[in-house]
Amino acid sequence: MPGKLFVFSAASGAGKTTLINKVMPLFPNIVYSISATTRGPRPNEIDGVHYFFKTKEEFKKMIENNELVEWNEVHGNYYGTPKFFVEQKLAEGRDVAFDMDVFGKINFDKVYPQAIGILILPPNLEELEQRLQDRKTETRETLKIRIGNARKETDFALAEGKYEHVIYNEDLETAAAELKGIIERY
Ligand code: 5GP
Repeated sequence: MPGKLFVFSAASGAGKTTLINKVMPLFPNIVYSISATTRGPRPNEIDGVHYFFKTKEEFKKMIENNELVEWNEVHGNYYGTPKFFVEQKLAEGRDVAFDMDVFGKINFDKVYPQAIGILILPPNLEELEQRLQDRKTETRETLKIRIGNARKETDFALAEGKYEHVIYNEDLETAAAELKGIIERY
């Protein structure tokens, strides 16, 4: 039985990271894919743990060498899923989880159509704006970009994405129970 692939997508600020950090430790057989990105590390982020931090040139080389399952430009930076990691983990019989924007997921599905899509949405966009402000990782400029993108991403994901499950993250405990239930079903 090949490993299962769980793809999480969200509008940023939907509470995805908090939700995932709460639920995924309950499933130790599921490993997290580490993406490559050209975004600079945030203060708590470690290269090779949270992301593989790359220069634009290095990232372009990865694209040219066909080293990525999918990639996309998100909020002005490149993000992509390295092939070697998922291939290695599937060969080991592990289940793999991915964090991916809704457009990247479309390309991911072309390679791995069996992927299970889980879309996490904020209850509404006002709530999203508040959460992004509270997080204090954004400048006014990037905040504006992220809010605009959130609307586009949500509309696109609901209309054209392949998400077997949609979770509206209004209350963390409820959403966590819902996510746990979904994963247990597989
Ligand atoms: P952040 O900068 O907040 O860590 O991530 C921003 C966005 O990039 C999120 O929407 C996240 O889902 C997306 N992202 C992270 N890794 C990947 C990846 O490997 N591929 C794609 N397409 N998007 C990614």
